[in-house]
Amino acid sequence: MIRSQGLTYQYANGPRLVFPDVDVTQGTVLLLSGPSGCGKSTWLALVAALVAPTSGALWVAGQSLSELNRMAADAWRARTIGFLPQKLHLSAALTVQQNLAMAQWAASQPEAPGRIKAALSALGVAELAARLPAQLSGGQAQRVALARAVLLEPQVILADEPTASLDDEAAADAVRLLLSTARAQAATLVIASHDARVAALISAESAGQIGFVPVQFIRNSL
Ligand code: ADP
Ligand code: MG
Repeated sequence: MIRSQGLTYQYANGPRLVFPDVDVTQGTVLLLSGPSGCGKSTWLALVAALVAPTSGALWVAGQSLSELNRMAADAWRARTIGFLPQKLHLSAALTVQQNLAMAQWAASQPEAPGRIKAALSALGVAELAARLPAQLSGGQAQRVALARAVLLEPQVILADEPTASLDDEAAADAVRLLLSTARAQAATLVIASHDARVAALISAESAGQIGFVPVQFIRNSL
């Protein structure tokens, strides 16, 4: 679940962002739309407890985020949030396998090669385990990054502009993978996107089996 009330964020030397209230149950697909610069990525950072709001309250997966100090927030994030960032941030010097092992290590989990293999298999990239990120296509790299994001079966999956710079076929693929992964893990899925194709893709790919909640972010005044 994600619930927010009166959330605002003031950037030092930047805009004051005012966010619409959200209240969704576990397993919901949430689409954040709105023009570039309206605050979608900032909202994802708030939900992941990477930054604290200037005002307002936020509950994610049953946790009131204002009650977490910095260290508790890191631990909470590691076990609760799967983040597919716009820039994938795969470590260039590590293989696909090692990139996923790093994620287990960062979350204080024992290294579990079987779990890594299962996550890569679920996304159709198990045969790429020994490759370096530079040896992957864009689509393959995104699948690997998604496998890493959901490796620890997070309750919430956050995807920032997952279809940016993808052609129609690859964009449909990315949305399909996000939906099927979230469904398989009963996770709440948040897709932040200014891509007009995404709403239609969610409807098409889910074939009416899931409801999704579109949240329109308005352009905030500076
Ligand atoms: P979106 O993801 O919808 O494109 P962002 O959340 O990235 O929007 O940014 C929202 C607004 O905050 C934009 O006007 C952006 O320029 C501004 N902003 C983002 N990061 C910073 C920062 N570190 N310092 C100042 N302003 C920022
Ligand atoms: Mg953004």
